[in-house]
Amino acid sequence: MKKTLMRPVGLPESASHPVATPLMPSVVYASDTPDALDAQYEGRVAGYTYAREGHPNADVLARRIDALEGAEGGIVTGSGMAAVTAALMGLLRAGDHVLGGDQLYGRSLRLMRDDLPRLGIATSLADPTDVDAVAAALRPETRMVLIEVVSNPTLRIADLDGIAALCAERGILLAVDNTFTTPAAIRPMERGADIVIQSVTKLLAGHSDVTLGWVAARSPEDRKRMYDFAVTTGMTASPFDCWLAERGLMTFGLRFAQAQATAERLAARLADMPGVRRVLYPTREDHPDRARAQAVLRGQGGNMLSFEIEGGRAAANAFAAGAAGVAFAPTLGDVGTTLSHPASSSHRGLTSEARAAIGVTEGFFRVSVGLEDADALAATFEAGLAAARGA
Ligand SMILES: *Cc1c(COP(=O)(O)O)cnc(C)c1O
Repeated sequence: MKKTLMRPVGLPESASHPVATPLMPSVVYASDTPDALDAQYEGRVAGYTYAREGHPNADVLARRIDALEGAEGGIVTGSGMAAVTAALMGLLRAGDHVLGGDQLYGRSLRLMRDDLPRLGIATSLADPTDVDAVAAALRPETRMVLIEVVSNPTLRIADLDGIAALCAERGILLAVDNTFTTPAAIRPMERGADIVIQSVTKLLAGHSDVTLGWVAARSPEDRKRMYDFAVTTGMTASPFDCWLAERGLMTFGLRFAQAQATAERLAARLADMPGVRRVLYPTREDHPDRARAQAVLRGQGGNMLSFEIEGGRAAANAFAAGAAGVAFAPTLGDVGTTLSHPASSSHRGLTSEARAAIGVTEGFFRVSVGLEDADALAATFEAGLAAARGA
């Protein structure tokens, strides 16, 4: 081996700056002297030390999502679930109670059901479309309410304003998981949320090639608690993932607008197809929360729609196989349309009675609409329905 030292050589000088954010995978950052390190630790100068504590690509991404959400000092985490966990476990303590929406994301429900109680944090669930039910479920020791504004996969709309007013009156933290709705439809911080969460994995990054989360709090003290918890428990995101997500985020607004317009058209087309029992889309005339979709989502139905076809599992199998133009995959927010079947994926842990209570039958499908042409999507769903009728 040649006798070269391995110290960093630095980047070539350039008076001009790169237009794209450089990818900076360095784990450690070298300082010039112990005095320089002191200055940094004491906050007199800015600088990175070790990537688990923070790195440029995570911070650049966080500042961009902050701007979209109207938040400050958000933290990028290694997944959306890490962001949910940082909010719950970073801010709650044994003896506290947290109330969750009854149709939260599956793993958020698991955290509430299995993990928080084990650590002495009591949890319960209530229907967030009904503010009276939420009020009735609060306890003297309730510290936080965690909701999603649009429920998965039934697309019911929470009474965000009612719950925000209730939480403000009772001094309870309101945490909103804004993954489904995205900042294009709602900025929860502007409507009273104290904490906002994103699974960046979904629409914000948008290409199904990174797993990332983001969480922000209104109060600087809560921000610091979540940051320290995230760093201590190693929720750090990879620089490369952050770099990819920043690139994806550049087209988020365009992708969302396009997918939403297609979803609205596809919902109307599906409702007229033989073999479709019902279509759920927030801005449709027959949606139970249509008025709230206008008020809370400002009329933006989003890119998600659900529908129910006639027949049981055999028809569902034939439909998924027949609609071969879309990926049958339980995710959302990709550039490509994905079709999911909650009874066999996200909701398989529920009893069939519990699924029936929320209308999730064997014929129930959820669609995350991507960037394909609406007519092409309608044609593939028509093909699926024809296959289902033959089953
Ligand atoms: C996917 C999702 C999460 C979890 O995000 P990951 O990045 O998969 O960990 C949390 N909440 C909602 C609403 C989601 O859709």
